[in-house]
Amino acid sequence: KQIVHAQFLAAAAPGSSLPAPTMAEIAFAGRSNVGKSSLINTLVERKGLVRTGATPGVTRQINLFEARARDGAMFHLIDLPGYGYAKRSKAERTAWGDLIEGYLKGRITLAALVILVDVRRGLEEDDLELIQFVEEARDVQRRPVEIVIVATKVDKIGRSASRSATAAMAKSTGRKVINFSSVTGEGRAELWALLRKVTLG
Ligand code: GDP
Repeated sequence: KQIVHAQFLAAAAPGSSLPAPTMAEIAFAGRSNVGKSSLINTLVERKGLVRTGATPGVTRQINLFEARARDGAMFHLIDLPGYGYAKRSKAERTAWGDLIEGYLKGRITLAALVILVDVRRGLEEDDLELIQFVEEARDVQRRPVEIVIVATKVDKIGRSASRSATAAMAKSTGRKVINFSSVTGEGRAELWALLRKVTLG
């Protein structure tokens, strides 16, 4: 295992705060049901660190996990609430939006933001807005925030279809896109290597 220790540390709902920013953080964001919980579990090689298949829209808080790499480096994994869940009131959406934006803007230890996009849906308005928001928010961070785009559930479509979908995503964002599947483990090593490099500072 590349991550030898991982545990839940804290949760923050709108209006409450996370533990002090003491170490490099990797945050994960994406539309509800994009496969975010599964990806985090796959990354840390633990089946149940994050609960998967939860009712869309249920995760209304930021969850913070502590992890230790094999080489001893410690970091935080930040599970941001899924966005884009339609059956939510406007007030609720505003509260979650504020929660996510507050975290992204104010967290000085944020080293990387992983944005998950379902390979079958491609980039949507919410995703593009998030990318733009983080690019702007970076200005107030003390260290650059690496933006990593991951196409999820690539096992659901053929290899050539997923290649062209991710090529389109790469083209519209000007960024590299990692193909990922929690079912086959594709992309896990590549994503981890990238994140490890970023959290080394
Ligand atoms: P979250 O809401 O973004 O945290 O998404 P989950 O990780 O809970 O996954 C939502 C649904 O998609 C669940 O039914 C998962 O089993 C399924 N899922 C997640 N990742 C993959 C994947 O890589 N491949 C396939 N085929 N299904 C996935």
